[in-house]
Amino acid sequence: NINTKEDVLKAIEANNVKFIRLQFTDIQGVVKDVEIPVTQVEKALGSGISFDGSSVEGFVRINESDMVLKPDVSSFAILPWNQSKGVVARMVCDVYLPDGTPFAGDPRYVLKKVMKEAEDMGFTLNVGPELEFFLFEKENGKATTIPHDFGRYFEFAPADLAEDVRRDIVLTLLDLGFDIEASHHEVAFGQHEIDFKYGGALSTADDVMTFKYVTRTIAKLNGLHATFMPKPIFGENGSGMHVNISLSKNGENAFYDPEGDMQISDEARYFIGGLLKHVKAITAISNPLVNSYKRLVPGYEAPVYIAWSGANRSSLIRIPAARGKGTRVELRSPDPSCNPYITFAAILAAGLDGIRNKIDPGENREENIFELSDKGLQDLGIETLPPTIKDAANYLAEDDLLREALGEHVHENVLRLARADWDAYRIQVHDWEVERYLNTI
Ligand code: ADP
Ligand code: MG
Ligand code: MG
Ligand code: MG
Ligand code: MG
Repeated sequence: NINTKEDVLKAIEANNVKFIRLQFTDIQGVVKDVEIPVTQVEKALGSGISFDGSSVEGFVRINESDMVLKPDVSSFAILPWNQSKGVVARMVCDVYLPDGTPFAGDPRYVLKKVMKEAEDMGFTLNVGPELEFFLFEKENGKATTIPHDFGRYFEFAPADLAEDVRRDIVLTLLDLGFDIEASHHEVAFGQHEIDFKYGGALSTADDVMTFKYVTRTIAKLNGLHATFMPKPIFGENGSGMHVNISLSKNGENAFYDPEGDMQISDEARYFIGGLLKHVKAITAISNPLVNSYKRLVPGYEAPVYIAWSGANRSSLIRIPAARGKGTRVELRSPDPSCNPYITFAAILAAGLDGIRNKIDPGENREENIFELSDKGLQDLGIETLPPTIKDAANYLAEDDLLREALGEHVHENVLRLARADWDAYRIQVHDWEVERYLNTI
């Protein structure tokens, strides 16, 4: 376990580390890094390493582009691949301004800020994300959307040709200290899921970023292309990132109450109430792309209707059957194209709003909501998630609680990126339109 500067220096020495990658995440959720030779590590651990933030998405400020990276020593890990030119380690960094104040646009800072609010109420957030992804073939070095295998849910080799690649990813993640719970083929051809054990929100968000680049890297080393694009193929399931959430208080799971209805606590109920209240706005963060909304349609196991339930998997919010330590709320809308730091921050802020204001989540729905008619939905007052990133952005623009929680800088930049994606999309003429209209109109 590495907790101090000295621990880092010792680990560097013991493993003969030659390079260190200093890693951070932009507002879009893209991982960035600067590599330093090990001779610079004392400086990095001291005053930090300066960089120009002006070319990083969402980092631009009017007068200021100089920023400083300061490593979080507890994130030190040796990257277990390609060590032919020397051993490479990485550290996840916080972003500061030259005057030493934290940069308000650093997603890690935003999450830490909301975690602090939770702490002041006595709560710690635990999250367990389930990332799905596709492995596609490459042709002439370029990614295609041809699935690497023709396996289906939980299938074995030989249908699951990707078994070896998936195992390779799992082994690499294990080397990096992940506690892997399971990995399996998903429903679509070429689609997979690898589950790791839940943990504190900050280190888990770091893990999501690591998971994504490990998966891409190992796929590449196997001649394949891994993608976390939410819906790469029409007519097939898309890739989600269900987020399992619990709060602990004094070391106990605060969502568990053996005496409570469904054996969940009032805190769990209010948390769900808060999530339901803010979920349309959260969607702009947890599902940030035009393409995200192609996944959130009926018929593909992704949520559409805003409701909560017990074990029923047709719901947006579900309480999986486990109780005791495993008591948790599962939010099924997020997809792996989101920025995990900002997404966890928004989920937590919404849940805390629910707890503070005792927001009633309404009745749980145990029927299959997808089988209800429009009239049935209307009678029950069940609403739907926003149908496009544009609609979602409009909800986020109006959500003062989330503006406050994320801070003006991140709130504005998330909106700007969402609207830019929509504007680029809406002027396109799609193949679908040409096919549909060219000959008949
Ligand atoms: P599913 O049945 O939805 O496919 P998985 O088994 O794939 O569920 O994933 C469940 C996730 O929930 C795992 O990451 C697991 O570690 C996590 N989890 C378990 N208990 C908790 C908890 N108390 N708080 C948050 N996450 C939890
Ligand atoms: Mg799962
Ligand atoms: Mg599982
Ligand atoms: Mg799954
Ligand atoms: Mg799940």
